[in-house]
Amino acid sequence: MKPFGYVRAASIGEAVRAAAGQPEARFLGGGTNLVDLMKLGVETPQLLIDVTRLPLDRIEELPDGGLRIGAMVRNSELAAAAPVRDRYPVLSQALLAGASGQLRNTATTGGNLLQRTRCLYFQDTSKPCNKREPGTGCPARDGAHRDLAVLGHSEHCVATQPSDMAVALAALDATVHLHGPDGERTVAAAEFHRLPGDKPEQDSVIGAGELVTSVQLPPASPGMRSRYRKARDRASFAFALVSVGAVLEVRDGVVRHAALAFGGLAHRPWRARAAEKVLYGAPATEDTFARAADAELAAARPLRDNGFKVPLARNLAVGVLADLADRAARS
Ligand SMILES: Cc1cc2nc3c(=O)[nH]c(=O)nc-3n(C[C@H](O)[C@H](O)[C@H](O)COP(=O)(O)OP(=O)(O)OC[C@H]3O[C@@H](n4cnc5c(N)ncnc54)[C@H](O)[C@@H]3O)c2cc1C
Ligand code: SF4
Repeated sequence: MKPFGYVRAASIGEAVRAAAGQPEARFLGGGTNLVDLMKLGVETPQLLIDVTRLPLDRIEELPDGGLRIGAMVRNSELAAAAPVRDRYPVLSQALLAGASGQLRNTATTGGNLLQRTRCLYFQDTSKPCNKREPGTGCPARDGAHRDLAVLGHSEHCVATQPSDMAVALAALDATVHLHGPDGERTVAAAEFHRLPGDKPEQDSVIGAGELVTSVQLPPASPGMRSRYRKARDRASFAFALVSVGAVLEVRDGVVRHAALAFGGLAHRPWRARAAEKVLYGAPATEDTFARAADAELAAARPLRDNGFKVPLARNLAVGVLADLADRAARS
């Protein structure tokens, strides 16, 4: 075992100060990903800053009708919260589709967002990997990549972002609130994770020493319906091959608002802007939904063994949108 320091932060300021100027420090949430990676030797922090006692464990109603979710709120608590189940079911469903009951009881909102890819080579220190050790290569491109990216990948990395919750947040137009050495800032959840480009070691836009303090959801309109659906190899305890988070508002048979995000297809939750363009103002029919999915997935560049993800994503998206439209028609 490699020795490391441990401090428990009593305030946001104390956590940020402890991390300042220490690139080898890591914030410790539930530890369900970070500690696993430490055991594998993938993460070798010199200092763990335990942030689980920070006063960021509340879900609060905002004056505009939105919700503020503290970064320390546990995944199970968030999934079960009445305002989330009632107004943002896509988020509750995404959380419940992830991991296991025990893991969700421990995992935090901030840690879930920042969990690392499940690419096999990333987790195996005997193999090269540009994300773990920049410049060493990407064996997944020609190797085991059945569950990896078909959109937005680069020659340097074809990994996927694993969080189900992050896909729902992207579809909900959530914002991520950060506190770091230079103060506070806000980033759209759909822009929080990055595409790999030539810097696959950077999963997200978070800066050195920045702490996620909360995630905020905009108000849900009364006619808004949402849903999350995930295709995976096993019915539980498995990451997404493909997932879809969708928000739809239909009036008089016409799509008035649509937000669609895919998981399991890219290095970040893939907000489907081309599909949304097709959906806005169009009749809420399966034909429209299929054209929308096709418009988005035309950009897919599957690897040798993951071409199946493209029709899977299309069928999942069409099914979820049709289900939401059907529910709108019946209400
Ligand atoms: C067997 C198994 C199956 C799983 N299946 C799924 C699945 O199907 N879907 C899914 O989405 N997830 C799945 N997970 C992953 C699980 O959801 C994550 O491990 C968990 O959400 C991480 O949260 P945590 O609080 O434990 O994070 P930690 O392990 O504590 O931290 C993860 C990362 O986030 C950083 N961090 C933590 N908190 C903050 C903060 N506030 N600000 C800045 N950085 C922070 C840490 O430094 C670390 O880099 C699975 C995990 C396991 C072990
Ligand atoms: S896909 Fe990314 S994480 Fe996987 S081996 Fe290639 S560089 Fe590493």
